[in-house]
Amino acid sequence: MPKPKFLIVSEQQSVFKLYELLFKDYFSDVKNLLIEDYDFIETIDFNQFNIVLIDLSGKKYISSLNELTKKNTKNSKIILVTPYDLNYFSLTLDDTLFFNLVLSKPIDVQKLKNFIKNESEKLEKRNILEKKNNILAKVVDLHPAKIAVYDMNGVLFYANSNYLESNNLTLNHIDKLTFDEISQCNIGFKNIKEKLQITNSFINQREENNRWFESTFYIISNEFIIHNCIDITAQKQKELQLEQSAIFFENSNEGIIITDSKGKIVSINKSFSKITGYRKDEVIGKSPSLLNSGIHDKQFYEGMWESLKNNSAWQGEIWNKRKNGEIYPEWLSIAKAVNPKYNEEFYIAIFTDITSLKEADRKLHFYANHDILTKLANRVQFESHLKSTIESCKRRNSKIALFFVDLDKFKDVNDTYGHTVGDEMLKTVAKRLEQSIRKEDFIARLGGDEFVLIIKDVKNDEDMLNLAHKINENIKEPIVITDKVFFMSLSIGISIFPDHGKDSEDLIKHSDAAMYEVKENGRNGYRLYNQNMTDKISLKVTVQNELKMAIARDEFEMYYQAVVDVQTKKIVGAEALVRWNHKKRGILTPIHFIDFIDEGGMSVEFGELVFRKVLNDMQIINSKLKQQNFKISINISPEHFFKYTFVEDIESFCNDFSIDSKQIELEMLETNIMKNSEISQKKIEILHEKGFNIALDDFGTGYSSLSYLKNFKVNKLKIDQSFIRDFLEDNNDKAIVQAIINLANIFNLKVQAEGVETKDHEKLLETLKCSLAQGYFYNKPIPLIKFLDFVIKDKNEN
Ligand code: C2E
Ligand code: CA
Ligand code: CA
Repeated sequence: MPKPKFLIVSEQQSVFKLYELLFKDYFSDVKNLLIEDYDFIETIDFNQFNIVLIDLSGKKYISSLNELTKKNTKNSKIILVTPYDLNYFSLTLDDTLFFNLVLSKPIDVQKLKNFIKNESEKLEKRNILEKKNNILAKVVDLHPAKIAVYDMNGVLFYANSNYLESNNLTLNHIDKLTFDEISQCNIGFKNIKEKLQITNSFINQREENNRWFESTFYIISNEFIIHNCIDITAQKQKELQLEQSAIFFENSNEGIIITDSKGKIVSINKSFSKITGYRKDEVIGKSPSLLNSGIHDKQFYEGMWESLKNNSAWQGEIWNKRKNGEIYPEWLSIAKAVNPKYNEEFYIAIFTDITSLKEADRKLHFYANHDILTKLANRVQFESHLKSTIESCKRRNSKIALFFVDLDKFKDVNDTYGHTVGDEMLKTVAKRLEQSIRKEDFIARLGGDEFVLIIKDVKNDEDMLNLAHKINENIKEPIVITDKVFFMSLSIGISIFPDHGKDSEDLIKHSDAAMYEVKENGRNGYRLYNQNMTDKISLKVTVQNELKMAIARDEFEMYYQAVVDVQTKKIVGAEALVRWNHKKRGILTPIHFIDFIDEGGMSVEFGELVFRKVLNDMQIINSKLKQQNFKISINISPEHFFKYTFVEDIESFCNDFSIDSKQIELEMLETNIMKNSEISQKKIEILHEKGFNIALDDFGTGYSSLSYLKNFKVNKLKIDQSFIRDFLEDNNDKAIVQAIINLANIFNLKVQAEGVETKDHEKLLETLKCSLAQGYFYNKPIPLIKFLDFVIKDKNEN
């Protein structure tokens, strides 16, 4: 801190030394001015010095001091020391008060010392203050806030650099512009003043171009108003984020708990209360363990803490308890987090009530093990139940029976009346089956119209046969579905553990074989398994496998049997009959394999193969016989006929081989086309339009109803060979043959007799006016080349 500057003025050199000695401690700088002439006043810049001591003795010098009083000596203290008294001064000087201290010699040194000491201290203090003020001013100036001071009239008194810059001001605007002219605040000076009358300070926030500003106004000693403005955009954004987090926290569908590092709950959300039933005030400060259901053991919670410790997270399913005591499952995720501000750990737990999910899971489990339509157990459950039942049988040394139950002719019901009726039928049958057994027994639907029953604690075979009879009788009671009445029956195969099989696989296979045997023997009945059945089944499996190979290798050949005009005895066509050239068993007729093809689901593939074979042969027939109206009959299986694209398929086959559809006759069993009479009627009509001929095979053995002869556009009836066989002797058969011929005439259809074996057969047919015949009498079915020879020979003979 620089010490005050001192100037000593005198006309005598001798005094300087004295004063210097007296005051050197108080001053850093002491200057002596020895005056030699009277206008010394002009030569001194008094303001440069803090204290000026004038020691004059010459009267002339003293009077020149009047010049001094006219000068600006504002910043310095002036001491006057003379040998004269005050009276003298008042006479000589215009203004004695101009001097800060006047002393007469001999001077009171103590007084002078005190004065100087006081003054220098004062000066020192003022210097310090000034310096501090400068620093303060600098601090305010460099402060990041925008700070300004206004007087009570609103005129700008001070502004720091930021304030000036942000308001486009320069120092020149100070003391000129007012707050209302400068500020972009949404509040006027009058308003600010009014507010500050009530309070010392207030805060005002405003938004401008997506930025936020906060102004604080203070009043100081009722003289100045300070305006302090800061940019709070970042802070605002943080607030907004916090607000959003809070909204998420509150409104999340998941329950949320926040605990401190010691596991005490510090916060929960609405969903927490909704799920658990606890209000906020009931849980804050408590441990989340108040939700414990008691279901999980100590290890479970230890595992949870272990994972939190090692991975800072845990998640899983947990059973908790609501306030009302109800135990419920929840999916819980816990995460450990650290609050960076305080470096403090806390835990966030988020959970969902999965009661409904569990319910869905239970349903899913139910449907995985049950048949949706009948609600009975399904194949999956049946198989595992059968296995476990057999195991317990082994332990208890008891017997069980497995019933393999198949609903007869269900396919016809489904095909004829649709799936809705079919479904109702299955439900009714399921219910009746369930009612026929005891609670401890078991029932399942394997699919389609197949059911299985497991009957426990079987005493003897007799009981089981009785039960099967009772069950079948129960199903035979009329079934009514939407005003239709159905009469159904069952085919039941029974196998018994341990008599008929050592494991579940055997039991199932054997009850199935027994059921199959019932089907083979006209359905509607029940049978116990025996070894022969297995042989039959295994034969079936072998043949089906062989057939698959045979189709792939094309081991089939078409044989032909002539169709003869009974009146002219000429061959007008032929029936194509398939033969299997079996590697080991020789040439096989259809009776040995055709059913296996149907059961093995190969009918369509096989039918198409036969169809193309015949077309191929027809190309040869046509080229050899040159007789375009020579008709070939092909036997069509129902599966093939009901194939969705049957008509298009055979049409395109005909195109491929350039065969006219008029040369082809499709033979179908009347029972088969009746399976879905509506579809059959439409298909037959289209086939008819496309030029194909339709013959009803084995006529007289099925429905033989007049109404369908009217509705179906068929061309020919083939009288079944069973009527021809005995019709020479049996008048009944003769009458039937006659009736069929008459019927054909009425509907304008051709009629053909099958199985004509003798001349007598032919003669009688001739008298009965049957137009066409076929049979061993003319020729047995023979391969194509032989057949062609036969036809050509016949032609030449006639
Ligand atoms: P079907 O359509 O009634 O054929 C006539 C059957 O009677 C033929 O037996 C034929 O050989 C036999 N037959 C002909 N004349 C006489 C006779 O005077 N006396 C006796 N006892 N039998 C005679 P096959 O060839 O064994 O055919 C049996 C059945 O197999 C056929 O009965 C037919 O329903 C079916 N079938 C034959 N070929 C095919 C075919 O290519 N496709 C389909 N889906 N079925 C065929
Ligand atoms: Ca036939
Ligand atoms: Ca026939």
